[in-house]
Amino acid sequence: MVLLDGKKTSQEIKNELKLAVDAIRQQGGKIPHLAAVLVGNDGASETYVASKVKSCEEVGFGSTLIRLDANISENELLQTIERLNKDPEVDGFIVQLPLPKHISENKVIESIAPEKDVDGFHPINIGRMAKNLPAYIPATPYGILQMLERYNIETSGKHCVVIGRSNIVGSPMSILMARNTKIGNCTVTLCHSKTQNLEEFTKKADIVIVALGKPEFLTANMVKEGAVIIDVGITRVEDSSKKSGYRIVGDVCFDEVSQKASFITPVPGGVGLMTVTSLMQNTLLAAQKRVYQ
Ligand code: NAP
Repeated sequence: MVLLDGKKTSQEIKNELKLAVDAIRQQGGKIPHLAAVLVGNDGASETYVASKVKSCEEVGFGSTLIRLDANISENELLQTIERLNKDPEVDGFIVQLPLPKHISENKVIESIAPEKDVDGFHPINIGRMAKNLPAYIPATPYGILQMLERYNIETSGKHCVVIGRSNIVGSPMSILMARNTKIGNCTVTLCHSKTQNLEEFTKKADIVIVALGKPEFLTANMVKEGAVIIDVGITRVEDSSKKSGYRIVGDVCFDEVSQKASFITPVPGGVGLMTVTSLMQNTLLAAQKRVYQ
């Protein structure tokens, strides 16, 4: 079994990004700048945004964190987005999800200029991705593609089962794995909560991508020998032995599934770290105007 090491792979990517920033600096170009909008003070969102800002600093990008009160009106948030759309200093920006219930996520996502939508959630980017046109690919799926590529995992002709159909992970992942691209060309089955006899699908899969948010859901009896297992799940589970009072658990029962897998991502230390570096890569693409010329 080979561990798909998100720490090592994301560090490799960060090193490549640092070199790109050095080259831009030497040529007197504009340093990429990512802005993040955080509404309210949800603990998990705070952690994600902090790691995005920290990663920007590490690779030499500029970054701005805009904190807004949980009670801000939808209109005020839309005005902030409009300012960022027009700000020439900001190459790309994200609005951290989830948002408070009184704000429409769809409205917010659709108000972001597609050429600055480095999260890749805007319908225009999703549509371009589906058509295999240049697009910002949502960060988590993009991170998974790069993990598969950098570990030379053959995907062509394989059966890939994706569990979970969210707009940010499962759904785009299923599209990407089926595209006619180097990492792609799979026969894809997309499973969700209404799927019957789920294990009939997972048992036949060469690649299983698990993104449903249920700790240790995928067990060894559900996978075949030699399968590639990608665990996207991140759930905080109470743990009084930890200083924080919780530990992070994935959607895969790692101890038993790793005995059968050919490749597997750990949690933590797998997909989560790749998500952040993929966002940085999208920001570099935005700064270099390589998606929307
Ligand atoms: P989500 O919006 O919470 O949706 C969960 C999906 O799982 C839904 O499509 C749901 O089906 C499906 N599902 C629920 N129970 C199921 C079951 N018993 N069998 C089969 N499918 C089932 O998903 P998400 O936002 O993609 O998040 C999934 C997990 O990934 C969470 O733990 C999240 O924290 C984590 N995550 C990690 C990263 C990262 O960087 N590593 C990034 C994003 C999310 P229905 O559509 O039928 O309801």
